[in-house]
Amino acid sequence: MVIIISAPSGSGKSTLVNELIRVVPRLAFSVSYTTRKPRGAEVPGQHYHYISRPEFEQRIAAGEFLEHAEVFGNYYGTHQRYAEEAAAKGCDLLLDIDVQGGMQVMARRPDAVSIFIVAPSREVLEQRLRKRSEDAEEVIQRRLREASAEVNYASRYGYTIVNDDIKESAQNLIAIVRAERIRYQRQQDALAPILATYLQPR
Ligand code: 5GP
Repeated sequence: MVIIISAPSGSGKSTLVNELIRVVPRLAFSVSYTTRKPRGAEVPGQHYHYISRPEFEQRIAAGEFLEHAEVFGNYYGTHQRYAEEAAAKGCDLLLDIDVQGGMQVMARRPDAVSIFIVAPSREVLEQRLRKRSEDAEEVIQRRLREASAEVNYASRYGYTIVNDDIKESAQNLIAIVRAERIRYQRQQDALAPILATYLQPR
């Protein structure tokens, strides 16, 4: 199963994704490739694979990415390898990607589970962006503009979580993944041999 999670910056996505990974087993998190520079305490190979623009473009040309997009002036992409590794390990692939990437994956994998996370209002998002005081005013304004564009895609996602209360949102995210796994199991005919046992004559 492929799980796409998208959200405007400041919506609480990272916290929710971390909680999902902590609680739900067998999720393979895809480490994206990016041309942006590492920030703060980010660890290469753990948060992202940091590569140059020419290398990224070479990899696009070689068809290595499941999806890729330009976000805030930098390339970001999901390597095909993660999808293959997740499938080989029997894990579900978790993608934390922007809406452009989300659309590409949905087109290629119509069965993907897609979840959009949004703060309860623009005003709340602005408060949250200011509170984390990581960014300059200009960056906050850009993120707010980006958020206004990104929310237009919310209706294209299978689920929308309005992140008002972080604990409740985490529970909802976990519930979505658990329920989708049960549905997927049925689609994959994993139930057929179980149900067949009920048909055996005594
Ligand atoms: P940041 O630079 O703040 O880590 O991420 C900026 C945006 O890029 C976020 O919305 C994040 O979800 C998105 N992003 C991260 N990795 C990928 C990726 O592999 N593909 C796409 N399309 N977006 C990504």
